[in-house]
Amino acid sequence: MLGLMQDWPLTVDRILDHAKNWHPDREVVTRSVEGPVVRTTYAEIHARAKRVSDVLKGWDVKVGDRVATLAWNTGRHIEAWYGIMGIGAVCHTLNPRLFPEQLAYIINHAEDRIIFVDLTFIPLLEAVLPHCPTVERVVVLTDELHMPATKLPGAECYEALLSTASEAVEWGGFDEQTACGLCYTSGTTGNPKGVLYSHRSNFIHTLLGLQTTVLGATPKEVILPVVPMFHANAWGIAFGGPAAGSKLVMPGAKMDGESIYELLESEGVTFSAAVPTVWQGLLAHVREKGLKFSTLRRVLIGGSAVPESLIRAFHDGYGIEVIQGWGMTETSPIGTLSNLTPELEALPYDEQMKWRIKQGVPPLGVELKLKNYAGQEMPHDGHTYGRLMVRGPTIAGAYFKGEGGDILDHEGFFDTGDVATIDEHGFMQITDRAKDVIKSGGEWISSIEIENIAVGHPKVELAAVIGAAHPKWDERPVLVIKLKPGESEDRQEHLDFLQGKIAKWWMPDDVVFVDDIPLGATGKIDKKVLRERLKDYRLP
Ligand code: ADP
Repeated sequence: MLGLMQDWPLTVDRILDHAKNWHPDREVVTRSVEGPVVRTTYAEIHARAKRVSDVLKGWDVKVGDRVATLAWNTGRHIEAWYGIMGIGAVCHTLNPRLFPEQLAYIINHAEDRIIFVDLTFIPLLEAVLPHCPTVERVVVLTDELHMPATKLPGAECYEALLSTASEAVEWGGFDEQTACGLCYTSGTTGNPKGVLYSHRSNFIHTLLGLQTTVLGATPKEVILPVVPMFHANAWGIAFGGPAAGSKLVMPGAKMDGESIYELLESEGVTFSAAVPTVWQGLLAHVREKGLKFSTLRRVLIGGSAVPESLIRAFHDGYGIEVIQGWGMTETSPIGTLSNLTPELEALPYDEQMKWRIKQGVPPLGVELKLKNYAGQEMPHDGHTYGRLMVRGPTIAGAYFKGEGGDILDHEGFFDTGDVATIDEHGFMQITDRAKDVIKSGGEWISSIEIENIAVGHPKVELAAVIGAAHPKWDERPVLVIKLKPGESEDRQEHLDFLQGKIAKWWMPDDVVFVDDIPLGATGKIDKKVLRERLKDYRLP
């Protein structure tokens, strides 16, 4: 027997409708790409998003057509998102940190018809667009005063278009399974692959994100997503903020420690989210200038493993709670969070650290399991490694246009490519990406675990561990270090620092000092490039 409740399609336009109806005056504050801080509200964003839809309809954009954005986190970017998605078109968020060839590849693969672009990225788009025949128009996200002379064919000014557009556009009216967002993985192996979100999956992801153990957004919360909207949907904040009626503070093009700190303080931000490297930059600024945080209470850190030193720096220095999140583009992206159980929270702070550095427990809506290469399920004992598999309504079932073939196992679980353990408290810990794990004498060494300790040394800015070929053991770990400015090289002190904190046979065989550790398109250490740079390195 079926239930008798109403059929109310879960489409994301309803999220912004809700914000307009119930939190119309809540602010969205942006450090604009043009410079000044600009203030708007959910009511205005809603009205202007409708105008975006009207413009797109005038260009015959239909349900399923792909419309891209190449933009920072700003109020205008939110308007463009909802304007695109509201009429059933697919918002393809382009990551400006991809190489131009990769950008051209994904624009062509997605067959984007229109691109909304920030002023910053015009030169990049000018270089890419001659290779992208499907793109008909470019909308520059600025006003007429700042509209640049550009070689971009068919370039239009966003504010000029909106000024004559109508707000009388209907949103929704399509199936909730209709595609609404497209985000390509960074393609560390092979070409980038497209993850195609549906209205339903994004709506459910928004509800999942509203659990207090996830974003915990409320109308009292002031949220600053440093994590870009082009990096796995700003981890759901551009949906969760309006859904909860939280004030949003959008950092625009300036992501350096000083600029972020200024906004945190001037706007009374209570909650923020970013990858570890961003927080390291912010804390360096705050320490150097002897500053304090007056309103920030919680930070969500994810995208790569969160070192203990970072958790302690926030907690000990400023009383700010760090919640570690794990996820990926394919998981919309929320997968797990490191919220401690009451039993673990009752432990002394130092003992809690064992769990705080783990990636944690899935929220309702995400299923996890560990499998070995033979497909058998692995125990939750905290030390047996397995491939991390996930299932749920917000997890990719296939890539766009079938790239990569069948990606699910016979029970419908997606293989994340991460290697992990799960302990008796249910806490998942990522040991490595399958392709980064160091295989030594038939056993696995977790590069992440060593990195997380090594980066806690006061002289170290960034640390990475990679495997180097070894005649007897196959591979041995090598610690690669970028020192803080002005620090001097001393190989032994970094090895001494690891002593007693990791198993003896995990001890790196060497320490290599480098001027620069490359970061990838989402601000994480790019081990593929690092390995390439060190390809001629031989163990001593
Ligand atoms: P990209 O490949 O562009 O980095 P994603 O953002 O989708 O794309 O990356 C997802 C991957 O990032 C995960 O599969 C995992 O390896 C890593 N990751 C994400 N969060 C964490 C975390 N908290 N700890 C360790 N690794 C993480």
